Amino acid sequence: MQEITSHFPHGEGRRCVITRRACFSSSHLYLLPELSQDDNSALFGPCSLSPGHGHNYELIVAMEGPLNEFGMVLNLSDVKHAIKKEVTSQLDFRFLNEAWPEFDLSKPEGCLPTTESLVRIIWERLKSHLPLLSLRLYENPKLWADYQGNAMDAYLTVQTHFSAAHRLAREDLPQKENEKIFGKCARPNGHGHNYFVEITVKGKIHPRTGMICDLSALNSLINDLIVEPFDHTFLNKDIPYFSDCVPTAENIALHISDKLTKPISAIGGSLYKVKLQESPNNAAEVYTNASESKTDIQESINEINLLR
Ligand SMILES: [Zn+2]
Ligand SMILES: [Zn+2]
Repeated sequence: MQEITSHFPHGEGRRCVITRRACFSSSHLYLLPELSQDDNSALFGPCSLSPGHGHNYELIVAMEGPLNEFGMVLNLSDVKHAIKKEVTSQLDFRFLNEAWPEFDLSKPEGCLPTTESLVRIIWERLKSHLPLLSLRLYENPKLWADYQGNAMDAYLTVQTHFSAAHRLAREDLPQKENEKIFGKCARPNGHGHNYFVEITVKGKIHPRTGMICDLSALNSLINDLIVEPFDHTFLNKDIPYFSDCVPTAENIALHISDKLTKPISAIGGSLYKVKLQESPNNAAEVYTNASESKTDIQESINEINLLR
């Protein structure tokens, strides 16, 4: 008879991060009873229109732990059932404002069911069942929140895009030298990209509005300061900053970060990261606070994103 604990190589005891994706569709309404309809409308725009609207949410649960003797951190079937029991079966096809008492706005402690407040409360529901590392909740493919169990601290990311041309070359170098450094990107008449930009803001979730910053103000800033001025331009010629700064993906990401840092502070958030995807093959990421280097958590979430 063969022993189960034979010399079969495996990673028992070694730590690993695993992820599980779950989806649910829910509706919500941003309407604070202590405010007039006009004030609600001014603060929350069309999100305050009764009886509400819905989203197809996507939740990514990242968990961490040592591998067991069967080569798993956890039995995935247990993970799936915990997420279904504690989260998706309670939220799917429901009105979020009424699904969980945390969103009961008739009580002073009730909070609007924003993406960032929802992901925080999902963490509270799951933390005693699963070894959570981080949660990401997509409200749609262009808006998501990340939460790592740190009280009211959360991250909100907005994705947008613009199309622009550029040429990579330094004016002080001869063309031959530029071609040696920048290759085809140095060709004299330039070329273009459809750029995707992710703006990640860090902040504390407001206990009543559920927001880390005013989302419509954030969208306006990104549109007014980045998308409108950059879209359909030749960056080297149309954007003064790039007249003497080579518009590499890295430099564009840095410039976007510099343009947004102060205005985002003014609306109560803190710019955490700018990611510029230049093509399917290359991207640049800039972290506003140099001490906040890319962590394992971010790395694993980026991996998940690539696989989506
Ligand atoms: Zn909504
Ligand atoms: Zn290029």
